[in-house]
Amino acid sequence: MPSARRIMVGSVPVGGGAPVAVQSMTCTRTGDAAATLAQVRALVAAGCELVRVSLPTAEEAPAFARVVREAPALAACAAPVPIIADVHYDWRLALAAIAAGAAGIRINPGTMAEKHVREIVRVAAEARVPAGGGGEGGTAAPAAPAVVPVAIRIGVNAGSLPRDLRGKAEREPAAALVEAALRWAARFDEWGFHAYKLSVKSSSVPVTLEAYRLLAARTDAPLHVGVTEAGTVWSGTIKSAVGIGALLAEGIGDTVRVSLTGDPVEEVRVAWKILAALDLRRRGPEVISCPTCGRTEVDIVGLAEDVERRLAGDAALAGSAITVAVMGCRVNGPEEARHADYGIAAGAGEGVLFDHGERVEALPEGQLVDALLARIRAAGA
Ligand code: SF4
Repeated sequence: MPSARRIMVGSVPVGGGAPVAVQSMTCTRTGDAAATLAQVRALVAAGCELVRVSLPTAEEAPAFARVVREAPALAACAAPVPIIADVHYDWRLALAAIAAGAAGIRINPGTMAEKHVREIVRVAAEARVPAGGGGEGGTAAPAAPAVVPVAIRIGVNAGSLPRDLRGKAEREPAAALVEAALRWAARFDEWGFHAYKLSVKSSSVPVTLEAYRLLAARTDAPLHVGVTEAGTVWSGTIKSAVGIGALLAEGIGDTVRVSLTGDPVEEVRVAWKILAALDLRRRGPEVISCPTCGRTEVDIVGLAEDVERRLAGDAALAGSAITVAVMGCRVNGPEEARHADYGIAAGAGEGVLFDHGERVEALPEGQLVDALLARIRAAGA
């Protein structure tokens, strides 16, 4: 079941029917504010809507505060990108992050004393961060408030379960994760704090799927989904696509983070591809290309990569939802790609350009991509 409850993480609505938001995390040293800000910019440019930044030590708090302060000016988006602090073990770092203006914090409450978690919740509830709205009588969307409390993600993992759940975790790892998350959610509710979301990630796809299915059946709180420590870009992409994709296809998940051992910009690109594959959200043109076969007479791999790279690099098309086909033969190609908005079907030395299923013209192979891009741009797609 999709989460019924909506929270705001700064300017980004999460849950309650809001679009699934894309999150990633910087991997620079947070103490190097300039490098971290540069990575925030790259992530936002790729479509990241929530950026998580770790706050490992108090010494890095000033740099973290600078990132929070300067990120809105960097981000070329309508509203300032919310910065979420990733905090482990030391509850005082969570307070420092809130004081620095973080829109959200991610904690694993199981690594802290309950009285300290309570204090984090109290401070988060009293803090106010910009939400991008105008509040009552404002000019923004009527439902958008001007300021909101600091949101908290309760991020449970297998390594920090309460003592009484550790035996259960051996037998039923997913159920143990869910139990731990729901205990904390109940605490937060008792304390009158509802601006939280939950995550129960595992590095195992089956455990992740089972845990989120169990969790979604028992809470209406927004869920942050992902497969943790998924691996390198290639294998992690597959694990994430399977795990996150399966959950999203069932309507489970309000924010997603693809975890890859690599450039976090790749995480954002993969997340968008997962959302697009499920027709949940689109960011820019979608390229479909034939798998090639014995009829292929040209370098379709090179052509498809060229088209994809040039479409992705065209800022004017970032909001476009067109589908572009790159096919390997002039006879079957246009028919096989008849649902595409635009396309090329290449044969030996020559190919055809088509527009919404209609053949436009035949062109020498070397002119096909330029002609395709020109037609798309001329249509203002
Ligand atoms: S479009 Fe043509 S070349 Fe590509 S797979 Fe189909 S038949 Fe083969």
